[in-house]
Amino acid sequence: MEKRQIIIVGSGPAGLTAAIYTARAGLKPLVFEGYQAGGQLMITTEVENFPGFTEGITGPDLVANSRAQAERFGAELRTVDVTRVKLSPGDQRVWVEEEEFRAPVVIVSTGAKANLLGLESEKRLMGRGVSACATCDGFFFQDRIVAVAGGGDSAMEEALFLTRFAREVHIIHRRDEFRASHYMVERARRNEKIHFILDSVIEEILGDDKVVGIRLFNKRTGERREMPLDGVFAAIGHTPNTGLFKGQLELDAKGYIITAKDKKNQTRTSVAGVFACGDVQDPHYRQAITAAGSGCMAALDAEHYLEGLED
Ligand code: NAP
Repeated sequence: MEKRQIIIVGSGPAGLTAAIYTARAGLKPLVFEGYQAGGQLMITTEVENFPGFTEGITGPDLVANSRAQAERFGAELRTVDVTRVKLSPGDQRVWVEEEEFRAPVVIVSTGAKANLLGLESEKRLMGRGVSACATCDGFFFQDRIVAVAGGGDSAMEEALFLTRFAREVHIIHRRDEFRASHYMVERARRNEKIHFILDSVIEEILGDDKVVGIRLFNKRTGERREMPLDGVFAAIGHTPNTGLFKGQLELDAKGYIITAKDKKNQTRTSVAGVFACGDVQDPHYRQAITAAGSGCMAALDAEHYLEGLED
């Protein structure tokens, strides 16, 4: 069994920022970055809204730079998945298969996954016209035709955002009733660039090395048709990566970790010594910069907590 002061689980912008701060504070954090290190940034082509990069930076480069920065201050990164945890006030146990690690503090930054339609063509064309983040990729669709799959608030919001760039935005929803609020649906309806295709699902995304269209299936009429377009945005919800923590940390109805929203100690979870940051506790903002910001907050909260243990 290996003893540490801080263990960080997850290596997107939240976890890596927490690593930079805690390493710089001399706490030698151990970061389990996971086999798919870097999180959602690894499937983001260009990040143009992260302050400090005038010309933008690719998602993978932003991750690589943050990793190097954390390592420069003494963070230790291991490219493995945590397989089990046992969290108790002031005593956190973490396993990677049979190997056990123990620390008074764990920072959870395991992120969330955008739900995808589950098509083979969607996987193949991800980053080549398929995206799950309009804020990240909308800019690349100037004067283009795009589709947004989904009928919730995210779909309406993404569609409205995309009208800043795209010529036409088609919201494709599998029912004729919306999960989105009436207000958001009305806003979308009032926008003349937005068109609704209801009772329909995207059966196939067409294109070899970039998106050139979709095949639609109308569930009510049974009709199939192809529609030429340039981009497909999945806005069918996100799933937080909290499987490891079920039954141990307080989660909300959708599985997000509940963090204390009081002014001090905002990243604290239901277990003393466990802090959470980034998308795993944030169903709302979900940006690289907000994740990084909350990673900094978790690091400061953790340092403060450790100081309290020494007193
Ligand atoms: P959501 O409310 O769960 O909606 C997901 C939508 O995707 C639903 O319309 C669902 O269809 C559809 N969908 C799910 N799986 C699908 C599949 N495999 N194929 C096709 N369609 C599928 O998720 P969300 O829109 O991301 O919103 C999440 C939460 O954030 C909500 O509480 C929302 O209010 C909140 N939010 C708020 C705002 C805002 O207020 N500005 C903006 C964004 C998000 P069905 O309806 O048929 O199930």
